[in-house]
This record gives sequence, C-alpha cells and structure tokens, in this order.
Amino acid sequence: MRRLLRLTVGLLLVGATALAVLWRSATLQDAVLRRMIPRLIAQSGNALLADDALRVAICGSDAPLPHPTRAKACVAVFAAGRFWVVDTGPQSWNRLALMRVDGARIGAVFSTHFHSDHIAELGELNLQTWAAGRAAPLRVYGPPGVERVVAGFQEAYALDTQYRVAHHGADFLPPEVERMRALPVVARPNEPPVTVLEEDGLLVTAFAVNHEPVTPAYGYRFDYRGRSVVVSGDTAKSPALVAAARGADVLVHEAQANHLIAMVGEAAAAAGRERVTKIMRDIPSYHSTPVEAAEAANEAGVRLLVMYHLNPPPPNALIAKVFLRGVAGVRPEGWILGDDGTLVTLPAASNEVRVGVVPQ
Ligand SMILES: [Zn+2]
Ligand SMILES: [Zn+2]
Repeated sequence: MRRLLRLTVGLLLVGATALAVLWRSATLQDAVLRRMIPRLIAQSGNALLADDALRVAICGSDAPLPHPTRAKACVAVFAAGRFWVVDTGPQSWNRLALMRVDGARIGAVFSTHFHSDHIAELGELNLQTWAAGRAAPLRVYGPPGVERVVAGFQEAYALDTQYRVAHHGADFLPPEVERMRALPVVARPNEPPVTVLEEDGLLVTAFAVNHEPVTPAYGYRFDYRGRSVVVSGDTAKSPALVAAARGADVLVHEAQANHLIAMVGEAAAAAGRERVTKIMRDIPSYHSTPVEAAEAANEAGVRLLVMYHLNPPPPNALIAKVFLRGVAGVRPEGWILGDDGTLVTLPAASNEVRVGVVPQ
C-alpha cells in the first residue's frame, strides 16, 4: 500500500515537472505542436460519404431558446457521395465543420421554412463550401419565398465576397460559383409529396406540413439504396407527415415539451416578464410534443424516431427525463433524443439501424 502511494506521488511529481518545463520552453511547445498539428490536418470525416449506406447526422438539435452547446435546426444527410443539408440554423456551420467532411462535397440545401432558427447560417454555409472548393453554385431548394431569402444572404455577403476574391484571386475563388441558385418547390397541403431532385440514385421529395401561420412549410424525405430518412421541419402533428414517412427507416422529428413551456410561461408571468409570457402562450399551437412525435412515428411505422429541434433544449439528464415524460408509454423503444453529432447509419440492402456519434 505504502509502495503504491510512493509510486503515485512519484508519478504526479514527474508529471508536474514535465508540465512546468513545457510551460516555460518555447522549443518544447513547438515540438509538441509539430506532432499534433499534422494529425489534426489529416483528420477527415469523408468516411461519412462512403457509398455503403445512407447516413443522417444532427448538425443542430436546438430550437430558438439558448443552449451552451447545441446549434439550431440542421440535419445533414450523406448519400450519393455528397452531403445534403436540411436547414441552416445559427451555429450549424460550426457543427458541420467539426464533422470534418470536405465542404466541396455539398450536394444542396433544403429549406423547410424561413423562420430564423432554420436559415440564419445559409450565408456561412455558402461561403465556407465555396472556400472549400465547391465546383458549382450552391443549390437552395425551399418553399416559394426562397428567392428572397437567398437574395438577402447574397447581398449581405457581397462585400465579403469582393474582399476574398481580391485577396485570393478569382481563379482560386471564382465569384460566379459564390452565387447561390434559389430553386422554389411547390408542395401543397393534402396533396402527395413532390419530387425535388433525383440524382445518382438519391430521391428527395417534399411535402407540406402544418406550421400555421407559416405557410408553406415543408418536410423532406430522402430515399437512397433502399433506405429512407424523413425530416419533419417545424410542424404541429401532421397527417401529411405521417403519410410521407410511412415505412421510412428514420424519422427526424421536432419536439416541443409544452408542459415545460407552460412552466416557463407561468414563471415569466410571475416575474412580470410579459413578452416572454406571451411568446410561451403562443408557441404550443404550431409544434409537436415529444408524445405526438412518438405517435407520428408509430402511425408511420418507422424503425427509429430521432427527436430534434428540442424546445426547451434540456440542459441535463433530469430535465431531459421531464421533457420526455409520457413518450415511453406511447412508444417503449425505437426512439432517441437527438444531440448535435448524433449519427444514424443505414447500411444499404439491410434493415439495420446503427445509432452512434460523429467522431470529432
Ligand atoms: Zn418554425
Ligand atoms: Zn423552428
């Protein structure tokens, strides 16, 4: 016992001395960094683009309320050798960048609707994938109105584009590739989904959901190599979504815990914070509760439900338990609470559903 104690103290002393030397020696610091930086540079998430599966990762699991680590609405689908992004909420580019996928391999953006928590980082996604060497203008699909949103971001980034072309040269950063292409899609309520694109075996369809008074608002379905993923966007419980998600492997569905929202509203009212009180009273009508998301997953017969766009975003396990109250009674298994970096892999020609985390 005494020998173990002596060994532990000895090791701690050696560690502390090494740290003290490192702290003072610039030469040693540089030597350590010369070993670390090449490893960082060599890191790549391009394995996510491998053609053996359809993959989906959460690049933003939060809704408008603040959270220290979660980005806002963003879902990345990896198929046909490219990645496809549903919504670009605030901080979502950071999440995507940490997945270390080559930005030049962006396929397109699909916008569900134009609330700020779904679009705020469109300019950044466009800029960063252009800088990464994207070969063509970024396609942005969305409900009618997408032209205005794209034109606005384009204008907001116009000076930045000018500076970067002047600095790096037009051969390296062709200005014509920085221009986004807005591609409006018309999907009507109570009508079958419409085809958005068909490319290299990937089929993307859009359907109208119920996010009144935000109209139109869409969800998207991705089918690739016999596997499928549906993303709800923002919606109250919607029969159209259930129909579009029928038989899908994964349903990525928004979730708002109205019992928690009500508590926040009551506390805000007691504190005299009238604006917060009003907002908490208004928002339950156009979102789905975790229990409703579970019901939708059951009715559609999906294998896995991934909840995202979490409102309020649970800050710890206890609040997460409260957030999910009632879900297990409706759907005992086949669901998870999404987090930034949650990864679901659907190997081609199988029924397998693998849940993991994007390595970072
Ligand atoms: Zn919304
Ligand atoms: Zn939203």
